[in-house]
Amino acid sequence: MDLSPGTSYFVGQLSKAFIAPGSNASLASLFCAFCIGFVVLGVRRRKKGRRIRVRPLLQALFPKHIVFNRSSLVDAGYFYFYVFLFGIIFGWALLSYDMLSRMAADTLTALFGPARPTSLPAFVSRTLITVMVFLAYELGYWLNHYLSHRIPFLWEFHKVHHTATVLTPLTNFRVHPVYMCIFFNILALFTGLTNGVGDYLFGQATQPYGLSETNIILVAFIYLYVHLQHSQLWISFTGWLGHLFMSPAHHQIHHSRNPVHFNKNLGSCLAVWDWLFGTLHIPSVAREALEFGVDPDRRDAHTLWGELIAPFGHAALRLKERFAGRPRRSISLPAPERTRA
Ligand SMILES: [Zn+2]
Ligand SMILES: [Zn+2]
Repeated sequence: MDLSPGTSYFVGQLSKAFIAPGSNASLASLFCAFCIGFVVLGVRRRKKGRRIRVRPLLQALFPKHIVFNRSSLVDAGYFYFYVFLFGIIFGWALLSYDMLSRMAADTLTALFGPARPTSLPAFVSRTLITVMVFLAYELGYWLNHYLSHRIPFLWEFHKVHHTATVLTPLTNFRVHPVYMCIFFNILALFTGLTNGVGDYLFGQATQPYGLSETNIILVAFIYLYVHLQHSQLWISFTGWLGHLFMSPAHHQIHHSRNPVHFNKNLGSCLAVWDWLFGTLHIPSVAREALEFGVDPDRRDAHTLWGELIAPFGHAALRLKERFAGRPRRSISLPAPERTRA
């Protein structure tokens, strides 16, 4: 079928977002999250001796006050932005994973001489590099997130994600483009350089296992619980499991307005980096009463101005404060030490 360039771009982007198996918004992964949520709620009802009925379960999974919330509309707006516009506007500002990977391998060759091919079977070296790159992704994610919470200038951009007052899988996309540019570049640095080190160690260019250019381990987590991290469904990992994996409850705590939870649980799929760096907060088994959102009653909450434009002004003021050496009293923003995780 012959489509106009505009239409084929539109269809191509939609297919990349919803059909590509490695996409973090694929319909298959969303359906998987729905099934897991349905089963978890069904089992809980059963344990309470109640009958499993489809309608109440669907109402529990898609409560009207969350689906039609103004906060959810902003999430949807940001989702649209990332599917259709982000690459066109900011593609030039992103480092190349392949270039960094080659650079790391070439630097090691220049320093230590040519790499010697490994005697390991190809699938073993590929599996090892898949794990290495995934761990590098998680570390880069943790570091970027940590800096975004600790540096007031960066927090003003990351705060957009925390202004969500309800959580849905689309809240994952409610991220300011400035935050996203920094995030992608840090990830490219960590994962690209790690891939290059792996290439050198194994003596040949080795690509991690993946689905539509996404590391296969990350894809597995997207199908298992990443969507449920932004939901009202309380699924909590405790004990050793809670030290290793970032359950949906871990991330809901990350969004909590309770000061005890500020700057905690900064990882993506794994909790190990939080555990190692002292930012882990393991949720309780029973649902904790949490409230979400930063300054939820402010006038420009959930507007284009408040969630996309205003952060530039707020960040500029933070810089001014930094260089003036004292906070300006006229700014009615949360102080950095009150920022949440
Ligand atoms: Zn979040
Ligand atoms: Zn955060």
